[in-house]
Amino acid sequence: MDRRRLLKSLGGLALCPLCAGMGLASEGAHWSYEGVHGPDHWGEVDTASRVCGVGTQQSPIAIDTAIEAQLPPLQFSWARKADTIVNNGHTIQVNLKDGGTLAAGADRYSLVQFHFHHPSEHLVHDHGFPMEVHFVHLSARGSLGVIGVLMTIGKPNPVFAKIAATMPGKEGTSVAADPGIDPAGLLPTGRGYYRYEGSLTTPPCSETVDWMLLSDPIEVAEADVDAFAKLYPLNARPAQKLDRRFVLHSA
Ligand SMILES: [Zn+2]
Repeated sequence: MDRRRLLKSLGGLALCPLCAGMGLASEGAHWSYEGVHGPDHWGEVDTASRVCGVGTQQSPIAIDTAIEAQLPPLQFSWARKADTIVNNGHTIQVNLKDGGTLAAGADRYSLVQFHFHHPSEHLVHDHGFPMEVHFVHLSARGSLGVIGVLMTIGKPNPVFAKIAATMPGKEGTSVAADPGIDPAGLLPTGRGYYRYEGSLTTPPCSETVDWMLLSDPIEVAEADVDAFAKLYPLNARPAQKLDRRFVLHSA
């Protein structure tokens, strides 16, 4: 998929894909996490979303066995603050203007936005987590790179606390983000990760994502998870078939 089509598939291409509501939603289409518009029916949302139903490289997945491999180290050079925060009706999303980069070997990705799922979308050894954050990057070669970080209950995380305290309670347009929202504050110390080829986990489920799920979770306060869960009791797609894919794990 070329860059233009990719941006379009990310929704809200309109005039300014990177600054205007670049959600992960299929443009104008109605979908939800439960009921008649739930994940089992996402393939019927619109033609662009057919792959949600018939794809063979869908995300998330349950990671069971992974192949130990010499994966390139992840090098984060993210911007230290966010631009805007939005409740887009599917999640709380934080947008960045010049979001900085992620390097993995020869691949370079630019951070565009990050958003949250409750509970986690990925499972590791049959274990789900209270939440998961996805850092969505665009790569120069027109694919996406998403860093997933699992979130568990423990010590408060200052950045997530700031997000929980300032996230818009109602669906609407984006507002200025708190300057204390430094995306790197949501990364664990450990840099081990799982790597596989997958998709967006929301319509249109485009199969253009280099998934990098960090092995170590971060800790966040239970009260902050509860605050998010009040807005989004369930915004996680169930695990999809692995089909012929392999999952690599950094040795
Ligand atoms: Zn996501």
